[in-house]
Amino acid sequence: MTTETSAPASQDSRPTRVRIAPSPTGDPHVGTAYIGLLNYLFAKQRGGKFVLRIEDTDRTRFVSTSEQMIFDALKWIGLQWDEGPDVGGPYGPYRQSERTEIYREYVQRLLDNGTAYKSFETAEELEAMRQSQLAAKQPPRYNGAHRELTPAQIATFEAEGRPAVIRLKVPASGSTTFRDELRGEITFDHNNVDDQVLLKSDGFPTYHLANVIDDHLMQITDVIRAEEWISSTPKHVLLYKAFGWELPKFWHMPLLRNIDKSKISKRKNPVSLNYYRDSGYLPQAMLNFLGLMGGGMAQPTEQEIVSKGLNTKEGDIFSLAEMLEKYDFQRISLGGPVFDLVKLKWLNGEYIRKQSPDEFFATMRATIFSDEYLRAVAPLVQTRLETLGQFGDMTGFLFSDNVMPPESVWLPKKREAADTIKFAEEQLTALEAAAWDTVSIDAALKKLGEAQQWSVKENFMLLRAIISGSTQSPPLLESLVVFGKARTLDRVRRFITAQKQPKRS
Ligand code: GLU
Repeated sequence: MTTETSAPASQDSRPTRVRIAPSPTGDPHVGTAYIGLLNYLFAKQRGGKFVLRIEDTDRTRFVSTSEQMIFDALKWIGLQWDEGPDVGGPYGPYRQSERTEIYREYVQRLLDNGTAYKSFETAEELEAMRQSQLAAKQPPRYNGAHRELTPAQIATFEAEGRPAVIRLKVPASGSTTFRDELRGEITFDHNNVDDQVLLKSDGFPTYHLANVIDDHLMQITDVIRAEEWISSTPKHVLLYKAFGWELPKFWHMPLLRNIDKSKISKRKNPVSLNYYRDSGYLPQAMLNFLGLMGGGMAQPTEQEIVSKGLNTKEGDIFSLAEMLEKYDFQRISLGGPVFDLVKLKWLNGEYIRKQSPDEFFATMRATIFSDEYLRAVAPLVQTRLETLGQFGDMTGFLFSDNVMPPESVWLPKKREAADTIKFAEEQLTALEAAAWDTVSIDAALKKLGEAQQWSVKENFMLLRAIISGSTQSPPLLESLVVFGKARTLDRVRRFITAQKQPKRS
């Protein structure tokens, strides 16, 4: 059967409803805030609703502390949602793990109307399929073997107790075209669209199924998300069609990029909002910076620059209220916006300088000198002090941004520099995966040390040197917990980067 699925431009006259749908898989990502801001502006400019939905159906990547961190981080930068798991709303529940019954019920409709089918391959069979495709230099994909099983064959598999997944029956030929509001029409040949798994054998939906059902049931009119989801959109369009539902409009935002234009990743820049919050970035500066990313804010004209005596860079400084007034989605430029830390720092400095002395003092007391932080730091050194004046000497590294030990401090006596830096990289990976409490960090480091034959002493001394800049510090594990995961990882990352840079002689 040849099918041309052409999605007509949606003539949506429903009240605007948009959403962000983060997955709670770790620290809150700057990309979530970027897309969150755009959705927020879009909704508020149109008198609509901004929904927060938690997409937590991938249980293998689920991190239990992540959801709360997402809430906290979005509130920190000043974005409030109208509906969500914590505030409720008429279309709840807003956490996908609480909606699994709904997905199972809807997927049955697709089985009934022939747009989805059960597929019974075992993990080994799928792996063999993958290997033979790779060997034949073909892109790995499902080969469609169970697309046309007879009811008798299905009954046999079920009687054997074979678990099944449910797959989307992508038409064998033809193509799907949809409109992207920023790019125009995009066409995907069905040859390049896999028969996506919709429901896994554990009864949990995949992202695609849950996302489409929820966007429909939550009456989402505009799907504003990152560019990386474009290749999933034909599957979504086929799903809307299979259900007989009206399509939302799709807006795929350009991805944030590193200076070298690669997609931002934690290897190159901190991507956790916690890092920026804990290192003393002001939320207004962060929000302003994210507002610059899409290019939707008009820059001041030559005339304004002259008549208002503006420094051109001042055109880069604007508040949320100004964005609400002026942000223009038609202006968004598709060239990848650069997440330029130099620019962010400059902007942050501008915001700090704009504060009155009282505001600045209050900001310091609410952040890096908060009661909460001081209360956590004080017990680390209380028993070691002879005078209170020594407090700064012993804890300075917990209040500094730039700590870089000399080689005489970080290099263990019996180790080579290159091996030590390699071990620091492994420490970084172990710390990234660890829950942030002393017991978990201790276990992660010791496990690594045992595997690599680094003694506990060498292992901890290296990390102590990287974090504190010295061979002596308050208790290491407690210090790491107080300093926070995001800042600790950043410090280790910066150490590694600095050591790998060619040395000036
Ligand atoms: N759960 C997806 C994410 O983590 C949502 C993508 C979408 O907005 O459709 O980004």
